[in-house]
Amino acid sequence: MRLLLVEDNPLVGTMLRVNLGQEGFEVHWHTTGESALLALEQERFDLALLDIGLAGISGIEVAGRIRKLGLETPIIMLTANDDLDTRVHALDRGADDYLAKPFDMDELIARVRAHLRRSSGTLEHLPEPEVHIGQAILSLERKMLRAPDGQAHALTDKEVALVQFLVRNPARVLTRANILEEVWGDDDAPTPTELDDLITHLRGCVEREPSHPRYIVTARGLGYRFEP
Ligand code: CA
Repeated sequence: MRLLLVEDNPLVGTMLRVNLGQEGFEVHWHTTGESALLALEQERFDLALLDIGLAGISGIEVAGRIRKLGLETPIIMLTANDDLDTRVHALDRGADDYLAKPFDMDELIARVRAHLRRSSGTLEHLPEPEVHIGQAILSLERKMLRAPDGQAHALTDKEVALVQFLVRNPARVLTRANILEEVWGDDDAPTPTELDDLITHLRGCVEREPSHPRYIVTARGLGYRFEP
């Protein structure tokens, strides 16, 4: 599944590329409407994610061009301006959906999948959601992690949620408090030792050298960091 992403904010663009890439989508990221229009003349995309506010041609104009080309590509607009006029204008120009920044990544991914499902009429073409950590692959539906050596490990719900949380926040120190709040929330939280054991277990599944982790790195005295 090829996604056209037009986003001029490097942080937002990187987050989208990383997260959608983890979901198995092929993300073609353009930072200007002009380069997106060029790409549209030569390539086909299964869905477009368009930021409205761009330096030159706006995301709304890109949406208009997609429709003028006669393409039925689902279009989701992203914008900081959550005012009604902008939203109505975007939808008038052919957008199918609209998400105001800051958006929730899970919600965005769910909407991308929903639009693709509707446009393709089936789920079969959709990639199975999976998370890649180096050579290890976690299948989110089966909760099965395939280690670099090919061995399969069944993960618990919390382990899956922990991996997803790490991967969605690349190169950022995640404190124990961050992790407990995001992964356990109101559920019974593990003790510090139990959390360490869980990380050790995950490293055993994803790292080639678990004692010298490359991906799930300790941030001494703070917590952990995922290095993509
Ligand atoms: Ca922008």
